[in-house]
Amino acid sequence: MLVSLCAGAANAQVGPVGIPIRTCVLRDAPGLSAAKLFHAAGRFDCATPQARFGGGDFWLLSQPLDLPAAESRLAVRSSSVWQRAMTIYALYADGTIVSIRSDDVAVSRHLRLGAIFQRWLPRRSAPLVRLLWHVEGAANLRGILLAPTLATGGEVTRSDTHLAALYAGVGGACAALLLFNLGLAYALRHRFMPFYCLMMVALLAYDLSSSGTLAWLLPDIANTARMRINYVLLALVAVSALAFLRNFFEQRVMTLWLRRVCVAAAVSVGVPAIAIALFAPIGLRLFDTIYGIGFLFLLGSIVPILVNAWRRNSAFLPFFTIAWSLPIAFAAVRTASGLFGWPYHFWIDNSSVISMTVEALLSSLAIGHRVLLLTRERDEAREQEIAARLLADTDSLTGLLNRRAFLRGAVGHEGDFTLLLVDLDHFKHVNETIGHDGGDEVLRIFARTLRQALPAGALAARLGGEEFAVVIADPDEALAEDILDRLRHARMPFDITVTASIGQCRGPLAREADWKALYRCADTALFEAKKAGRDRVRGAPALRRFAA
Ligand code: GH3
Ligand code: MG
Ligand code: MG
Repeated sequence: MLVSLCAGAANAQVGPVGIPIRTCVLRDAPGLSAAKLFHAAGRFDCATPQARFGGGDFWLLSQPLDLPAAESRLAVRSSSVWQRAMTIYALYADGTIVSIRSDDVAVSRHLRLGAIFQRWLPRRSAPLVRLLWHVEGAANLRGILLAPTLATGGEVTRSDTHLAALYAGVGGACAALLLFNLGLAYALRHRFMPFYCLMMVALLAYDLSSSGTLAWLLPDIANTARMRINYVLLALVAVSALAFLRNFFEQRVMTLWLRRVCVAAAVSVGVPAIAIALFAPIGLRLFDTIYGIGFLFLLGSIVPILVNAWRRNSAFLPFFTIAWSLPIAFAAVRTASGLFGWPYHFWIDNSSVISMTVEALLSSLAIGHRVLLLTRERDEAREQEIAARLLADTDSLTGLLNRRAFLRGAVGHEGDFTLLLVDLDHFKHVNETIGHDGGDEVLRIFARTLRQALPAGALAARLGGEEFAVVIADPDEALAEDILDRLRHARMPFDITVTASIGQCRGPLAREADWKALYRCADTALFEAKKAGRDRVRGAPALRRFAA
């Protein structure tokens, strides 16, 4: 749709539709009247660009119009500009002059989409010969009368339909993006998101106001009041976009200096906007110039931010650049065109809403990408946390649980459990025979052997030194013997034979006190096994449950 509209604009299907009219200018003076001026074309200045005349009251005379007798009604159109009132005079071939006056409120009542002021000429049998405008209180910021045309009903309808589709599309996209980002803001609570949502609200409001739709909703609003609102809303769009940008990049990108530049840029746009809203037309030209310079400064302030983001390797820079280069370029062209008096162009004047909407769409992709990066970061952090916990919970030599993790897993469950305390026999001697490293290897081999012997669900830990513990809910009766047997046949360094003794006891493990009792019981059994000659299992009678 956008492409067809832009292509259409080349043939002026939208906005300044119809026959373009060239005008010549005469500054108003006492005693001048339409009747005289229609026949005094020589008094008008056709060479000086309008913007050079400064503010004031003016007459503008059209070129002679070589029109056939009108088959349908004709509309006189021009882009809305800051003025107090405007009278259109139409001279017909029979000498009749028709005048149509519009004050500030009437201008706003006759605003079409694209903020185009339009008045219908009455239908007459005589052909239209010439048009004359009397403009009162023109601020003449970009011109006294911008892009005047004469359009037929068909052309007006086509323009309105295309622009309605455009603004509705832009408004719909903004509204959808706003909702989407409000949802994201609620879910993710990133600092930049409220500013992004504020920017979307401001953009929606600016879309409403600058398109002229606001004048339809509030028919009594003066057109200059609507224009004041435009200034403020566009400033709000820019400032919230900047605030979004300030919070979008990583902390390391936004140095104190850059943060100060952002504040200065926001002030340089915000203050003249508010001044215009409050005091215009007093100081309008001055504030408008300051506003334009402020905008250029604000746009310029993006450059060092981007450079810093690039130098500091921001992960978000590529997406940001893709999303924002178009609106920044458009905004720069529009601002410069206003500031340096480049010729008025409907699409440059209306570029903000379109390019900002494109930006908003692409920024949503950028936000999505950012969310993806953060999700990845979070997943990695979670994996690292799991790895760290695993490290904190395991015995580094054997890979079995350490005492702390073992107790955390073993204690606190209802029901009876069997505790096996396993102590390697004459381990001091093992160390003396094959060295401490050899002893370590024996411990590792024993841990592996133990793991292989245990069924699923058993908890095994190295409690310290060469003492191990196993907790198991329902052990096979032969489990302890099986462990000893596997150990006897395990392949050890230097082919030594290593044996162990096991003390075994059954009881509850609901509380810390249960563990202490069960440990004491199994330890006593282990002592029995050692005393009876080692390399054997000794059991103790099961412990009774404490009365609750
Ligand atoms: P018993 O049969 O009565 O258990 O005799 P033992 O020699 O195994 O018992 P004792 O408690 O006297 O000695 C345990 C030895 O285990 C002492 C210590 O040097 C050794 N040891 C403790 N931790 C480690 C370790 O991490 N690596 C190695 N290689 N040896 C260790
Ligand atoms: Mg020992
Ligand atoms: Mg020991």
